[in-house]
Amino acid sequence: MLSRAVNWLSDAITPPVCAACDQLLQHGDRHLCHLCWRDLHRACSISYCRRCGDTRGPHLLIDSFCSNCRARTPGVRDFDGFSCVGAYEGPLREITLRFKQRFTYDALLGELLNASLDASTFADKVDIWIPIPSHWLRRIRRGFQPTALLADLVARRRQGNLQPVLRMARMIPEFHRIRITPSARHRVIQGAFAVTAPSTIAGKAVCLIDDVSTTGATLREATHTLKRAGAARVFVATLARTPSENEPSALESPVGRSEMIASLQPSPEIGNS
Ligand SMILES: [Zn+2]
Ligand SMILES: [Zn+2]
Repeated sequence: MLSRAVNWLSDAITPPVCAACDQLLQHGDRHLCHLCWRDLHRACSISYCRRCGDTRGPHLLIDSFCSNCRARTPGVRDFDGFSCVGAYEGPLREITLRFKQRFTYDALLGELLNASLDASTFADKVDIWIPIPSHWLRRIRRGFQPTALLADLVARRRQGNLQPVLRMARMIPEFHRIRITPSARHRVIQGAFAVTAPSTIAGKAVCLIDDVSTTGATLREATHTLKRAGAARVFVATLARTPSENEPSALESPVGRSEMIASLQPSPEIGNS
């Protein structure tokens, strides 16, 4: 709480600067400078499957689903829906990192996350919102849990039910910060989560809230844990995701998420530059 008060005081006595690049904001700018809003639009234009979250060129998605997800119903490790603000690059990456290090820009990220959920197919079906947990050692070191704060912002805006029923039983690395093979990642994450109150989620549609998804291994393990404990459906909402290795292209999504992001910025002409 003290670090948050210091950040607030610092913001109050220094001139407003861009949340991503520290340039002084011009009159009418909100949170970000002109160039960072433009780059944020680009990052928010990735197209991905609305069920598994894999990035694909829009021509490889039919009704927003990849061919794998269209061919089968979700299994016990599969998400029932996926939503993200954009690619983990540019201003979105910078603001997310600053948020996780300094407990700041939560209002901006909460707005972005809620805007992406507004454009999702499942937000109105969610009974319970659940943050991906941090290990207690990491929580103490940081002084706060970023995903819990994001989940709180989402649940408040939507008047939803926030229940942090997932617990991390052991420390796992932040996969977007390290290089690790998929099989090693799977071994590291297996059995890392536990549900503290299974009766709370029994038969419910729940949504996991995360900050950065790399391959989705952490989210799939959490999904598996929740479904095994009785959750009927598990959706996922995350701030950013790293593009799939075979699909580096970031092309406009057909669902209009970029337009949702545009509604948050003050100058309508910025997105066209
Ligand atoms: Zn900027
Ligand atoms: Zn898919």
